[in-house]
Amino acid sequence: MTSHSPIPLAGVIGTPVAHSKSPRIFRHWLTRFGVRGHYIPMDVAVQDLETALRALPRLGFVGVNVTIPHKEHILEIADLVSDRAALTGSANTLVFRDDGMVHADSTDGHGFMENLRSNVPDWDPVQGPAAILGAGGAARAVVASLLNAGAEEIRLSNRTRARSEILGKDFGARVRVHDWNEAGDMLKGARTVVNATSLGMVGHEKLQVPLGELSDDAVVTDLVYAPLETEFLAQARRIGCQTVDGLGMLLFQAAPGFERWFGIAPRVDDQLRQAVLS
Ligand code: NAP
Repeated sequence: MTSHSPIPLAGVIGTPVAHSKSPRIFRHWLTRFGVRGHYIPMDVAVQDLETALRALPRLGFVGVNVTIPHKEHILEIADLVSDRAALTGSANTLVFRDDGMVHADSTDGHGFMENLRSNVPDWDPVQGPAAILGAGGAARAVVASLLNAGAEEIRLSNRTRARSEILGKDFGARVRVHDWNEAGDMLKGARTVVNATSLGMVGHEKLQVPLGELSDDAVVTDLVYAPLETEFLAQARRIGCQTVDGLGMLLFQAAPGFERWFGIAPRVDDQLRQAVLS
């Protein structure tokens, strides 16, 4: 890129968007790798989403992240949808292509897998059943990525059973639905356990699934990252499980966007974690 070429712009679209940690992640990488570029949070209302999306490429944007509440609706607006976004039913990373097309991708599953792999190098989803609490958008991304990595049995439990049944139907026989009031039972023999509900997050109720059946060789992760160690993770750690917090997933899911927009594969490391937490 010459000094006369436009400075690439990227950002995050949501409403509200002030809470988003993405600007800290991207600004850390832009500075660290000395990349010319800017990353801007943009509060865009649902009714303005399509207009904003069509205008951004003309203003010099190369792509954007998409956050709540636009992650599902964006699939109807995008011109091209990746397989994993279609499977997940949502997208968080848009690329504005040179031919004018908006390409939507979902990197949540990638973030989930990379977070576990980097924190527990010998973790492999084929080692045994996975138990997932929740059946929202994040749970869909987790299920899709575990199946893609070869998991043979995924046990799923959600407060609203109908939602987990839909997920089970969409993903096939390897996903088995359990009642929410029996969620503790599905932890028996599970090697991977995931909280994909919003329970345990600051300002939300606690996750109160009994952990009596959890064995100490399970790898337990929580997608909630505020607080960094949820009560659920703390209990699992006391049982002797390896635990992985959800912040890493957030960091890893950002990396593919940075690479596509700014041309450098960024590192997820402790410096980045500290920059985001500070
Ligand atoms: P979502 O689509 O709104 O789903 C929320 C999930 O939480 C549903 O399964 C819902 O069950 C469950 N839930 C909410 N309140 C509950 C309650 N009182 N009792 C039992 N279950 C309850 O949200 P999402 O996008 O999947 O996100 C889920 C969590 O993951 C959020 O905390 C989000 O911040 C986090 N997340 C983290 C990352 C990361 O990078 N670390 C990425 C994505 C999401 P019902 O279906 O019964 O309502």
